[in-house]
Amino acid sequence: MAGSVLLSGMNILAQQQAYLKAMEIDIWLPKAALPAENIEQETAPVAIDAVQAKRVVITEPQPESEPVKFDPGISSLNWEALHACVAECCLCELHKTRTQTVFGVGNRNADWLIIGEAPGADEDRQGEPFVGRAGQLLNAMLQALDLARQNVYIANILKCRPPQNRDPKKDEVAHCNAYLERQIQLIQPKVILALGRIAAQNLLQTNTSLGRLRGRLHHIEATPAPVIVTYHPAYLLRSPQEKRKSWEDLLFAKKTLETGDS
Ligand code: URA
Repeated sequence: MAGSVLLSGMNILAQQQAYLKAMEIDIWLPKAALPAENIEQETAPVAIDAVQAKRVVITEPQPESEPVKFDPGISSLNWEALHACVAECCLCELHKTRTQTVFGVGNRNADWLIIGEAPGADEDRQGEPFVGRAGQLLNAMLQALDLARQNVYIANILKCRPPQNRDPKKDEVAHCNAYLERQIQLIQPKVILALGRIAAQNLLQTNTSLGRLRGRLHHIEATPAPVIVTYHPAYLLRSPQEKRKSWEDLLFAKKTLETGDS
């Protein structure tokens, strides 16, 4: 069954409605917005405002081991030099199997930074993150928020595709981390959205489950911008019943950005 959502206090444009429909999220308008004959007794759907009540700023648990830091020179590179450095990177074994590196795409001055796990087959072929089916759903999620793909910045924890889309290994994440950190410093986003368990756990250096990471503001060293965690679009394609929760996360991120919470 598709998820449903109560839209309270939010202007919902026809276009956004269309994208919410594309995400298979039913829209519940406040009763006041409906003609009297349409009002039925319902058990209340999950209210978006309820998400706010859950909001807690937490301190991340100490990482189990210190992340590997390498080549401090990366932290002073400009966009072009960083791009070139990534394109030539041979620091882990993934360079042997990649077609090309997948640097990141979008507005380099974006308020929103979206971070996924790693390129898949489509991304490896095209050199751009989130261009496959999961990417199409991500685009719909963004458009539901009235955000165009080109207005946000999209990157991954890893810049190279792991063979057979296996999970990233520790050393691969450690090497790629310097590139992502530099991207974060250059973009200076206002909010970071981590997509899925692997992206969230690696970014936040924690083993906490995705369920426990959702609905909270997290912090990382590279930026004062808060990190918000939600489901990976590929997971949502397999488990569409979770789309409602992911919509709550997106609204939480939007609200965080608008209120300047950190
Ligand atoms: N999944 C990801 O995490 N990133 C991509 O770029 C594509 C699929």
